Amino acid sequence: MLKSLKQLFEENEGKRAIGSFNVHCLEMLPAMLEGAKELNVPIIIQTSPGTAAYIGFDLLVSSIETLAERLDVDVCLHMDHCKDIEVLKEAIHAGYSSVMYDGSSLSLDENIQNTRTVVEYANAKNVSVEGEVGTIGGAEEGVVVSEDEAIYTKPEDAYRFVRETGVNALAVAIGTTHGQYKSKAKINFALLEELSANMPDVGMVLHGGTGVSDEDMRRCVSLGMKKVNVGTELNKSYIEEVNRTFAEATPLTSLRKLLLPANNRIKDIVIEKSALFQLM
Ligand SMILES: [Zn+2]
Repeated sequence: MLKSLKQLFEENEGKRAIGSFNVHCLEMLPAMLEGAKELNVPIIIQTSPGTAAYIGFDLLVSSIETLAERLDVDVCLHMDHCKDIEVLKEAIHAGYSSVMYDGSSLSLDENIQNTRTVVEYANAKNVSVEGEVGTIGGAEEGVVVSEDEAIYTKPEDAYRFVRETGVNALAVAIGTTHGQYKSKAKINFALLEELSANMPDVGMVLHGGTGVSDEDMRRCVSLGMKKVNVGTELNKSYIEEVNRTFAEATPLTSLRKLLLPANNRIKDIVIEKSALFQLM
């Protein structure tokens, strides 16, 4: 069934970080939930505002509800990186169970003020909120946020942000960048440990998970990371598969046959990543 992020955190405490997978088109969706079903784990499906507009908020929500019921999987539908409070309200109204307000480009004071507004609105409707302090570098929706090395979350900013906004989850910058798949991130584990020790009631979120080695990922999860975003790897793998199958297609080849290998690859990634996020 559809659950809030807070509920998934509570039910999985001590067991795992929950994988949050970016869906880009409806075709990917059944494969994602089938992967979660096969491993018997909950899943977070997240969309950018662009994907939500492309598929349609209502169609996304009803598709996920149908699949969650059919497969008996716990799902959280989450809006990723959204800077527009009106769009977040639209998502909540449509049935999203979690939203991320990204005020990381604003001053800390403005970010806190806006995030608190979103938390008050969302939590009253049993919808969870993720916030972000500091900037996680790399490309978002094809727009380069920062080409510099990752910027690290300042602990004192994070503590104040959590205290004053009451967010359920917090994206922290510990060395990962968005869109990274050619090289591996250098994680600041000491920072993660410090943040984790001082914010026991908020679920920390790792963005840019594709660039993290398996070994480092296990360590991040053991140090308290509760939600791990996987986006780039899904997009990249889907393109690799359809490039291969479409190159061999004729106008009479069934589209279904051309998309199936890509869908299967998505399922495999969900299984592989979700298994990696289990606490040993
Ligand atoms: Zn992100």
